[in-house]
Amino acid sequence: MASGRILRIEKLSSYDGDGLRSVVFLKGCPLRCQWCSTPESHEMDRQFGVRQSQCTRCFTCVDNCPEKAITYDAGRDVFLTDMASCNDCRQCVEECLAGARTAYGYTATADEILQEVAKDSVFYYHSGGGVTISGGEPFLQKEFLQELLEGCLLQGINTAVETCGHVSWDSMEGILPFIDTLFYDLKHMDNATHKQLTGVGNRLVIDNLLKIDRSAHPLDIIVRLPAIPGLNDDDANLQAMGEFCLKLKKLKEIQLLPYHRLGIETYRTLSRPYALEYVAAVEEDALMPKANLLAQMGLRARVGSF
Ligand code: SF4
Ligand code: SF4
Repeated sequence: MASGRILRIEKLSSYDGDGLRSVVFLKGCPLRCQWCSTPESHEMDRQFGVRQSQCTRCFTCVDNCPEKAITYDAGRDVFLTDMASCNDCRQCVEECLAGARTAYGYTATADEILQEVAKDSVFYYHSGGGVTISGGEPFLQKEFLQELLEGCLLQGINTAVETCGHVSWDSMEGILPFIDTLFYDLKHMDNATHKQLTGVGNRLVIDNLLKIDRSAHPLDIIVRLPAIPGLNDDDANLQAMGEFCLKLKKLKEIQLLPYHRLGIETYRTLSRPYALEYVAAVEEDALMPKANLLAQMGLRARVGSF
């Protein structure tokens, strides 16, 4: 029985696939996109965060930790946790009366997660929904992912996976038969710009997408572009993406995702800087001309959410 590193499960979501869905967010990601709204998913290991605006500096967490794993850095006004010493008792979270201390991540078996998501089977059935595995990057935990998806399919639950595509082909290939819909991010078509924006180039991302498209597995591919003003939403990049996508036989549609700033508070909680402080959020309507540009190329394109 494979165990996975889970960030959280969001139930009855109407995003990330058809109908009502349970979205299982996994920990660990090989990219560091400048706009990422879930920085708490980056590390595979569990982490702790402190909401600075709520913390009363009572030091209960520091004083009561049985392993003395929490220290306070007065110079930076941040609480640090020595994860090598932490025994994961979660006492610090439970005893934080201000509700400022949060734990990001836990370990669970595929069977445990399957039992949890199967509780909503009736909603999936009536809405045409199912289970979406997101992240982080789900393919980094391939044994767990396969077991969870296989379990869903055996119970007749529709499956979707969201990927950044920057994983080994070996991690993906064996899992494709268990996926109904694959959401695949194409963040920039230029290799150097992709590296600048995400920390890695796009060659592996593009190679994997072409291999999936040529594979024998009849899954739907939905290509997604998180459209970030001034970084990757220019017509030249959209045109290049459109031309590439015209070659994909399994492509169902392209989704343009409007930039939002909902993750900023989490960066503060983790005492990390946010790279795009200067970029304003975008309304869905503002992306319609971009979707129309792709539609004029003969592609099915729409504005979605993330
Ligand atoms: S995180 Fe909670 S327990 Fe720790 S000092 Fe802040 S308010 Fe107190
Ligand atoms: S989970 Fe337990 S051991 Fe770890 S930092 Fe919190 S109180 Fe300490």
